[in-house]
Amino acid sequence: MLKLLQAALDLLYPPKCILCRKLLNDVTQPLCPGCMQALPDYTDRVPKVRFTAGGAVMFFYEGTLRESFLRYKFGGLSFYGRTYGQWLSTVIRAKLSGEFDAVTWVPVSAARRFRRGYDQSQILCAAAAKALGLKPQRMLRKQIHTPPQSRLAHAEQRRANVSNAFAAVHVQDIRGRRILLIDDIVTTGATISECARTLRMAGAEQVVYAAFAAPRITQTKDENYGNQTDS
Ligand SMILES: [Zn+2]
Repeated sequence: MLKLLQAALDLLYPPKCILCRKLLNDVTQPLCPGCMQALPDYTDRVPKVRFTAGGAVMFFYEGTLRESFLRYKFGGLSFYGRTYGQWLSTVIRAKLSGEFDAVTWVPVSAARRFRRGYDQSQILCAAAAKALGLKPQRMLRKQIHTPPQSRLAHAEQRRANVSNAFAAVHVQDIRGRRILLIDDIVTTGATISECARTLRMAGAEQVVYAAFAAPRITQTKDENYGNQTDS
């Protein structure tokens, strides 16, 4: 209930910067000028993810960007997703043009979606696809309710956790297609890899991925996964 109330207040009160939450002078922008200048554009090498032909990442998952994302994913502020998705479309256009002819997303389980009220990557995908002039297509279903990846430290544990967690749906839309798979945060790539594998098994010709954010490569080597990042 608190979450809903907070979300309602955020909608009613004067618009705030979606990163630092300062009141906005220019309400036509989702960000204050300071945050606009300081967006943490991703500059590391993009994580190599098995079963994909490559990918693109928009931001480093840190600082006010990370705090903003946590409010989006866990705090009920689902409208952030429209802005995030538009931003993501610019990176997709720059890095993955010509690599896909269909767009889908990494879904949460039905139970989690019910509790949260929305599927954060679906919103990202819808906004990015709209900006790209495409229609998002549901191609995956999460068939097993798994503990969040963020609670698991090791790559192998993360792989095992999502093994066979997804099933392909609407297979006729997958077969022979080159698919762009959208997710929120990529860390070890285990979830995206399992989704890409599922799509390839269902006949996808190629899968590329786009993620909203990723931790710096140097950080993912630490075993510090206490943050709520996945699922
Ligand atoms: Zn700001």
